Amino acid sequence: MNPDDDRYKDLIGKMLKLPLTDREIPVIADSYVDKEFGTGCVKITPAHDPNDFEVGKRHNLPELTIMHDDATIDLPGSKYDGMDRYEARKAMVADLEAQGLLVKVVPHAHNVGTHDRCKTTVEPMVKQQWFVKMDEMAKPAIEALKSGRLKFVPESFGKTYLHWLENIRDWCISRQLWWGHRIPAYYCEECGEMTVAKIRPDKCPKCGCTNLHQDEDTLDTWFSSALWPFSTLGWPKQTEEMEYFYPTDVLVTGYDIIFFWVIRMVFSGLEQTGKEPFHTVLIHGLVRDSQGRKMSKSLGNGIDPLEVIDKYGADALRMTLITGNAPATTCVSTGSAWRPAATSPTRCGTRPASL
Ligand SMILES: [Zn+2]
Repeated sequence: MNPDDDRYKDLIGKMLKLPLTDREIPVIADSYVDKEFGTGCVKITPAHDPNDFEVGKRHNLPELTIMHDDATIDLPGSKYDGMDRYEARKAMVADLEAQGLLVKVVPHAHNVGTHDRCKTTVEPMVKQQWFVKMDEMAKPAIEALKSGRLKFVPESFGKTYLHWLENIRDWCISRQLWWGHRIPAYYCEECGEMTVAKIRPDKCPKCGCTNLHQDEDTLDTWFSSALWPFSTLGWPKQTEEMEYFYPTDVLVTGYDIIFFWVIRMVFSGLEQTGKEPFHTVLIHGLVRDSQGRKMSKSLGNGIDPLEVIDKYGADALRMTLITGNAPATTCVSTGSAWRPAATSPTRCGTRPASL
């Protein structure tokens, strides 16, 4: 409940019995709860909702997982255990009704995520993940820019780079995907010991058992991409190519890739090779659609230049690209008027004065 909600003040700190499972849960007060919504009380589920997770952290609530990876219910000992989530939902509503605990059901617009392609509802889960501790890794990358060894064209994008590095958070590098570099962590089937190693160990260092399995998570795609400037040249071997081509010179990219890739190439390069992977980052403009959105395969809002040429001619296409995409612009040109890009209105301020 909300701490300002006088209706329930006397209940804070008491325990209540959760219908259907008979578990006892504490009544807590947190400003996250909207007292105008519904009864003004909400059940917190720390293991299955990002906001509830934060509330749970503030109040030391246990993170109880109630769903398996296939979205069937994980409540051993209850009648719902093993049911599909939607069947379980129907059964629970029916049981609440049967016990006289259901006041009413009303339609409610929510913002629970769905899968882009099949529209299946995505269930947030709490899972163990791998993180890279970033504070020490960020320092040399900050220094690279401040010392002038690394520079941005236009220079203003150096601020974007610095701001991100100076407010860095630890980096979650594990992904639950099938493609990618697998996390090099090995677990002993016997004693559970975990070993992180460059080469798969023959046996468990603790109990000597040879039955080991590798972590199934893969590295975040940007972790692998960050290695690109030197892994393509044969690193970690000190190859002729490494010798000749590394560090490289100029990276040409869009502003939207500064955090994902540019920064990560810089700190990974510094960490693994001791050198910045390039000395200059040139930020070019982005081609956008008529609504100011980036063209993307998933949105399907790209245009085929050949069709445009057939319809308007090559000069018209060239003119549009030239006027709309001078270095570092992220604005879209629609004929004579400049329009801010819908996704990043502030970036318009970075348009060079000459335009
Ligand atoms: Zn072992």
